[in-house]
Amino acid sequence: MFKVDFYVPLIKAVRSGINGHQKLKALILSFINSLEIDERLCYLNILANITLVPAAADPSTSTPKTNLSSSGIARSRKRIVKNVKQEEDETPLKNLKLSYPAETSSIDSSLSLFDQQPSPQNSSDVNFDIVEYSHNGKLDRKLLVFTSNDQQQCYEFLFNRIKCCYRCIKCLAQKKHTDIKATIHDDGSKTFDFNGEEHVCEPYYYVPESYESSLIIKSPNFLYTKRLNNGKMFRVLIIFADEEKNMCYQFGFDSYEKHFTCHRCKRQKRTVMARFIQHNGETSIELNSLQHICEPQKYIPDTL
Ligand SMILES: [Zn+2]
Ligand SMILES: [Zn+2]
Repeated sequence: MFKVDFYVPLIKAVRSGINGHQKLKALILSFINSLEIDERLCYLNILANITLVPAAADPSTSTPKTNLSSSGIARSRKRIVKNVKQEEDETPLKNLKLSYPAETSSIDSSLSLFDQQPSPQNSSDVNFDIVEYSHNGKLDRKLLVFTSNDQQQCYEFLFNRIKCCYRCIKCLAQKKHTDIKATIHDDGSKTFDFNGEEHVCEPYYYVPESYESSLIIKSPNFLYTKRLNNGKMFRVLIIFADEEKNMCYQFGFDSYEKHFTCHRCKRQKRTVMARFIQHNGETSIELNSLQHICEPQKYIPDTL
């Protein structure tokens, strides 16, 4: 009876008054030390059971029970442990939005990649464009490299998938490989190495009407963000479909292919992909196609 009616409430009283009760604390310690070894262990166990449970999580602190037996303490401790465990399990699902900065490292060690929008850097500042053009009734892509900023003349390059480079079409006709190497990075960005060999060809006069639209999306027509879904954080690239930013396409990151793809087109087995590039000194987006088969969705700003 001493344990339950006196000793337990005494320890709780000492514990709740963190800076006070120094005399009581000394009294309890000298009392435990005066006991035989078996008894001492028993009282130390009770002490540990009470003091090791965080005060806020201990339901008996706010509603003291006078008839608490030592087995009752063990039961309540077990229940507390279970509650704490449940909270840990539920944290990624329920509480992450609120406590996101502290939780990130436990979700994905590479999450620091998520925080910053990729900012690729080309070898040098070269004026270029990536355009669609009609070829045998199909749309294909060309890289145009202008000889000067006034965009009077340009060289045309086609992508060579085997070498992962862009090759000058006119130089190739003279059996010369004038290449611009493209490097794909883990964060889904792409950089261009313009320090290739000199052309043996003459540039074209640039006629914009010869090409379809540019595949380069400039700021602020896109937005890099992240979204929480089923306890996991995902990179999201939003490309606006209108100037008012009412409608958009959402792209998710494919870490295997290292590019972003349109969610809704992907469901219909079409790959509309996007990569971060550096264009005119600014981070921009390169698309492989402007032709979605999905419909743009209403843009709902992030509440994270
Ligand atoms: Zn050339
Ligand atoms: Zn789409």
